[in-house]
Amino acid sequence: MQWSPEAEEAIQKVPFFVRKRVRARLEKEARKAGVPQITLAEVKATQQRYLSGMAAEVKGYRLETCFGPSGCPNRIDAGDHLAGRLETLLEKADLLSLLRRRVGPDLKFHHEIRVALADCPNACSQPQIKDIGIIAACLPQITAAECSGCEACVQSCQEDAVRVDTDGPRPLIDPARCCACGQCVQACPTGTLAEGAKGYRVQLGGKLGRHPRLARELPGIYDAETVLAIIQACLEIYRRRSRHGERLGALLTPTDFEDFARRFAPLDHTV
Ligand code: SF4
Ligand code: SF4
Ligand code: SF4
Repeated sequence: MQWSPEAEEAIQKVPFFVRKRVRARLEKEARKAGVPQITLAEVKATQQRYLSGMAAEVKGYRLETCFGPSGCPNRIDAGDHLAGRLETLLEKADLLSLLRRRVGPDLKFHHEIRVALADCPNACSQPQIKDIGIIAACLPQITAAECSGCEACVQSCQEDAVRVDTDGPRPLIDPARCCACGQCVQACPTGTLAEGAKGYRVQLGGKLGRHPRLARELPGIYDAETVLAIIQACLEIYRRRSRHGERLGALLTPTDFEDFARRFAPLDHTV
């Protein structure tokens, strides 16, 4: 869809928390009307309609994903269709009814539970500032396959987490530096580095607003089923403790994090 320069400038000024949705709405309406280009007048009209009807647009949760599935080369695909399963879980949870009971009918977008799924540690969907953030992760595993000493793995690692011991040669991974992006595995031509634990990191309780806070990460990498179970546990806490639409981060305690770490086992992994 084409945008006039004035329309493009105007959409950048729409508040960030509704910008994506206003843009999507504009493109949908323009396609439906057979309009070839979006102009400034259409941006203003749609923004006005959108903001005045906000309560009707609130659905209780907001799931944001990154552009990984559109062909991003950094994407870690665990092949478990987690995005769709998250949407189903959140829809079934009927958070809208809960919010209406706790907050009242005049709901705003900032009342919604925000969940973000990023398909690699670059975290383009900003999981660190969401109630629930999920980051796809792939840890490298050193196999018995002969290493050529080419150092492609070293070149590919942005974290300086790989080095090659020339006595062998053999790759060495520093787990304290590795953020599980899987790039060294992609780069290795011999299979000496292969995929180890592949799943998701989970971060809870991030938020912006008056008292911004980055989400706190649970220890380890989890498979999709465990991620969904963790989210269910978070929603149970939210249902029990929310009084007026607080952010999840304001409701979780350090004891909850300890409890989650006990209840939910991460994937086994040794480099
Ligand atoms: S988070 Fe990673 S996979 Fe997703 S769009 Fe960003 S770089 Fe690509
Ligand atoms: S998976 Fe770890 S070691 Fe490999 S490139 Fe990414 S950060 Fe570096
Ligand atoms: S582990 Fe793979 S990429 Fe790294 S030096 Fe050996 S062969 Fe090359």
